[in-house]
Amino acid sequence: MRDMEFVLGDITEQDVDVVVNAANSSLLGGGGVDGAIHRKGGPEILAACRDLRAGHYGRGLKTGQAVATTAGNLPAKWVVHTVGPVWSSTEDRSELLADCHRNSLRVAAGLGARSVAFPAISTGIYRWPVESAAAIALTTVADFLEATPDIMTVRFVLFDQRTYDVFAGA
Ligand code: ADP
Repeated sequence: MRDMEFVLGDITEQDVDVVVNAANSSLLGGGGVDGAIHRKGGPEILAACRDLRAGHYGRGLKTGQAVATTAGNLPAKWVVHTVGPVWSSTEDRSELLADCHRNSLRVAAGLGARSVAFPAISTGIYRWPVESAAAIALTTVADFLEATPDIMTVRFVLFDQRTYDVFAGA
């Protein structure tokens, strides 16, 4: 297994090649980590997202997909936007949450990234229980790192102590 790290902090401050954004399908910004990335990254990121909407992603980004843009003023080189599934108690959407992590890493690897920071995708506004999200995220990332020949460090950046404790303890 390659390198996985856990940090309590703000993903917009991470000195990594790629910051993963828990975006919404419009790609045009939102609350939570999405809002923070656009605020700190500046208008360049939104401009790049608008270009994507004007081109291949006319209907937006589907749940589980991932796409890269500039990171604007962030210390990172790129932002990889992915859309997490909204939690459902009646339907198992775990594969979509796994897709977010797999596809983000695929896009990052394609860019030649050596380090990638993930937030706790879907656990905020999309209400996914943290224990379950952590299990899916960690298993998926570990599997990816095992299978990829590139050396990549994946850093989970957790915004509050409880989420950090669950991820770091999983
Ligand atoms: P989603 O819509 O996928 O649930 P949210 O942005 O609402 O996305 O929440 C995902 C996680 O990101 C939550 O745990 C939230 O506390 C966390 N978060 C919010 N702001 C930041 C930030 N600046 N850095 C890292 N994590 C953040």
